[in-house]
Amino acid sequence: MKENIEDESFEDECENGQRETDSRDVFAERVHSNQHQLTAELRHQYDFIVCGSGSSGSVVARRLAENPDVSVLLLEAGGTDDVPSVIAANQWPMNLGTDRDWSFQGQPNPHVNGRSLPFSMGRVLGGGSSINVMVWARGHKHDWDLFAAEANDPAWSYESVLKLYRCLEDWHGAPDPMYRGTGGPVFVQPAPDPNPLAPATVEAARSVGIPTFENPNGRMMEAAKGAAISDVRVCNGKRESIFRSYVFPYMDRPNLTVLTQALVTRLTFQGKRVTGVEIAYRDAIYQIGVAVEVVLSLGAIHTPKVLMQSGIGDEAELRRWGIPLVQHLPGVGQNFQDHVAFDCVWEYQDAIAPRNNLSEAIFFSTSQSGLDNPDLFVCQAEVPKSSAENAARFGLPAAGWTLFGAVAQPKSRGCLRLTGANPSDPILIDANTLSEPDDLKAAIACVELCRDVGNSAPLRPFVRREVMPGNLTGAELERFIRDAATSFWHETCTAKMGRDSMSVVDSNLRVYGIDNLRIADGSILPRITTGNTMAPCVIIGERAAEILQLEHQLQTSLQTTSAA
Ligand SMILES: Cc1cc2nc3c(=O)[nH]c(=O)nc-3n(C[C@H](O)[C@H](O)[C@H](O)COP(=O)(O)OP(=O)(O)OC[C@H]3O[C@@H](n4cnc5c(N)ncnc54)[C@H](O)[C@@H]3O)c2cc1C
Repeated sequence: MKENIEDESFEDECENGQRETDSRDVFAERVHSNQHQLTAELRHQYDFIVCGSGSSGSVVARRLAENPDVSVLLLEAGGTDDVPSVIAANQWPMNLGTDRDWSFQGQPNPHVNGRSLPFSMGRVLGGGSSINVMVWARGHKHDWDLFAAEANDPAWSYESVLKLYRCLEDWHGAPDPMYRGTGGPVFVQPAPDPNPLAPATVEAARSVGIPTFENPNGRMMEAAKGAAISDVRVCNGKRESIFRSYVFPYMDRPNLTVLTQALVTRLTFQGKRVTGVEIAYRDAIYQIGVAVEVVLSLGAIHTPKVLMQSGIGDEAELRRWGIPLVQHLPGVGQNFQDHVAFDCVWEYQDAIAPRNNLSEAIFFSTSQSGLDNPDLFVCQAEVPKSSAENAARFGLPAAGWTLFGAVAQPKSRGCLRLTGANPSDPILIDANTLSEPDDLKAAIACVELCRDVGNSAPLRPFVRREVMPGNLTGAELERFIRDAATSFWHETCTAKMGRDSMSVVDSNLRVYGIDNLRIADGSILPRITTGNTMAPCVIIGERAAEILQLEHQLQTSLQTTSAA
C-alpha cells in the first residue's frame, strides 16, 4: 500500500512538473511571438529608452514597463541568453572569451609585471548577471553610508538600501526578517547542499579569528569581519539572472520591446536635451527618438565610451578626437575601480566534484587591526585556477581548490580613454592596478590571510599540499602578487555620483548639465563596494526606477510592496 502511495505521488509530481514545463513553454512562445512583432515594427519614438540589459538596466526596464501606459525600449548589443553555458550554474567559466563576453583587455601595466589584464564583462541579455559567478553580496553598511554622504542624499544610505533589499529579495534561507525579504523578484539562497569544502572553509576562517554568520548579507554586512556560506542566485542547478528575474516575465506585454544585437553608438541632442539614441542594427544606423528619458546602463566601460563619443566628457580629450562638445564633464571615464584579486591554490587530498556555482563560501576581514569595516574579502573556488604566469611557475594540479582573495577597498584609480571618434574605435583601459603602495600592503595581508585559512586544521582533510604561493617572503612574495593580480570582474565607478567637479551624475542619477539623461549602472558608484558588485547594481536599477517613477508620476509594484 505504502509503495502505491509513493508511486502515485511520484506520478503526481511528474504530472505537476510536466504541467509547469508546458506552461513555461506556452509563456516562452507568447514572448517569442510578441517580441517578434514588436521588433519587426520598431517605433520612431518610445517614452523611455534603456540602453543595456545588464544587472541595472534589466531592473530599470522592468520597473518602467510595469506601468502599461509607458512604452519602453530595451537595447542590448549581445544576443540570447538561452544557451546551456548561461543556464547551467556550474558552466559559467565556459562563457569567458566567447561572443557573450566583451573580453576587454587592459593596457600593459608595470605594477603587475607588465601584464595586460583581461577585463571580462557580459555581452548578452542579462549582461554580467548572465555570465557571472552568481554570488549575491549586498555591499557593506559603510559603503552605502559613504554614498549617501557623497551624494548628500539619505535615500542612498544603508538604512534606505536595506529596505530596498528586503523588498526585492525572495530569500530562501533560514528566516531573518530584520534583514532578509521574501516574495520579491530576486530568488536567493545559501548555496544548497554545498561541497564539504565550503563549510570547512567557513570553519577554517573561524579558526583564525573571523566570526561566522548565518548568512553573509544580514548582520555580517555591518561587521568588520565575517564568514558564511555564500548566498547564490542558483535554483536547481540553474542560473537566475537579473534579466530572467525582472525582464523576461514582462516580455509578453505590448509596452516592452527588447531589441538584441543593437549596438548603441551615440546619443542624439537638441542643444543639451537628449532626443534619442543612434544604434547600429543589422548593418545599418538608425535613430530612435525618446519622449521622456534615456537611461544609460551599458556598464562601467561602455557607458563612459558612449558619453564621450556623444560629446559629454573632458573638453580637451574630446577636442583631440574632433568630437563636438555638448557638455564638459572631466570625470567621465575617470575613477576606474575594480577589485584586484590573487589565486592561492591547494591540491585536493581526494578530489570532490564542484557544486552549484563552484564558489560556496565567502569571508571578509581587515588587513590591519583597528579597522571597523573590512578591506579584504575572499571567495572560495572549488577548482584550481591562477594566472598563466603563476601556473607556469608553480604548476596547477589536476584536482585542487583556490582561495580567491581580493583587496576590497583599493586606492589605485584607473581611467578610460577614447582611441577615436568612431563607435568602432576601441576604448583604452588604463586600470592602473596595484599602482598605490598601500594596495600592495593590503595584497600581502590578503595572501597571508588566505594561507592562514587554507593551511588551518579544518581544511587539512582536503589538502594534499599547498601549491601556491607557499612560504614566500619579501621580493619573492611581491613577485607572486604582481604575477597573480587579476580582475575580480567588478569594473565600476567611471561616471561617479557626487557633488565635486569630477562627478558625472547627481544623487538622482541625472547627468550634470544634460536634460533627459540618467545613468544607472556600476559606473555611478563613487567607490567600489565591499564585495561582489551585482547586487549593488540591482539597487542602482531600483533607485533609478524609483526616481523616474516619482518624477514622472508612474506607479510600480515595488512602491506598493514598500508601502504595505
Ligand atoms: C565573469 C564574471 C563574474 C562575476 N561574478 C560576480 C558574482 O559572482 N557576483 C557579483 O555580485 N558580481 C559578479 N560579477 C560582476 C557583476 O556581474 C557586474 O558588476 C554587474 O553585472 C554590472 O552591472 P551593470 O548593469 O553595471 O553592467 P552589465 O551587467 O555589464 O550590463 C551592461 C549591458 O550593456 C550591454 N552593452 C554594453 N555596451 C553596449 C552598447 N554600446 N550597446 C548596447 N548594449 C551594450 C552589455 O552587453 C550588457 O548586457 C561578475 C562579472 C563577470 C564578468
